[in-house]
Amino acid sequence: MTTLLYTDPAFARHQTPRGHPERAERMIAVERALSAPEFDVLVRRRPTPAPYEAIAACHPSAYIEKLEALIPAEGMIALDADTNVGPDSMIAARLASGAMINAIDAIMAGEAQNAFVAGRPPGHHAERDHAMGFCLINHVAIGARHAQKAHGLERVAIVDFDVHHGNGTQDIFETDPSVLYVSTHQSPHYPGTGSPTERGVGNIVNLPLAAGTDGPMYRSVFEAVVMPAVRAFDPDLLILSAGFDAHADDPLGDIRLLEDDFVWITERMMEVADRSCRGRLVSCLEGGYDLAALGRSVAAHVATLAKD
Ligand code: ZN
Repeated sequence: MTTLLYTDPAFARHQTPRGHPERAERMIAVERALSAPEFDVLVRRRPTPAPYEAIAACHPSAYIEKLEALIPAEGMIALDADTNVGPDSMIAARLASGAMINAIDAIMAGEAQNAFVAGRPPGHHAERDHAMGFCLINHVAIGARHAQKAHGLERVAIVDFDVHHGNGTQDIFETDPSVLYVSTHQSPHYPGTGSPTERGVGNIVNLPLAAGTDGPMYRSVFEAVVMPAVRAFDPDLLILSAGFDAHADDPLGDIRLLEDDFVWITERMMEVADRSCRGRLVSCLEGGYDLAALGRSVAAHVATLAKD
């Protein structure tokens, strides 16, 4: 099985204020974890920036233009209490979305079965016209729309196991039955959305978890709720919002998953992809803020994706 890995030095050039959890060192931790000899099997590629039209399929032109206009020549501009942009932020975000597009094109061309996009800033909090939660544009949404428009895929499923609810992804697809969005997340927690009563047009499945949820509890609800929803949807492509901040060591959440749990989630998702869409799966890094846990978790996830 061929697994693609998309990385770019530009991802580390998106600057955040000192002490910010979503920092450039996250990319170094991921890069170091994926430099072990077992990852020599990965096919490493540099992404191309997402074209304007691909971004505009998820975000209004006025929003993209406003974001571009805010990019400073130097220094940083705060968009809210925890989201900011610097000179290289928009190119980093466009490369992360572009990596999703590149990965989908390569998989649809039969060059690989699955892919991992190791980029930043993350994307799942970015709503149609609102940057928030460290996110500027929504990479998994842009990828899903590209798969439909460029490759004619009918149904795309997005499964989000980040500790935070992907309010942005839900916002973009909540009236669109061709995209299934399933999220497990700590609740109550940032950003405050993700109640089971938020069902979109029947295409949104929210699974809130209490602080302290551990691996066995997580696996049982995932098996009971997430798996049947994705199987029933029978997607033509499976996309993962792969946040590793549900790890027990993460400073931004209180869910207690370990590396083995991420392996288990990855295996379940690969099973669904094998059954529904010939294994086509693209995974996009979202959160994960303890550098050591992030490195180990990404290594566990990607090693599973690349396993024969
Ligand atoms: Zn998160």
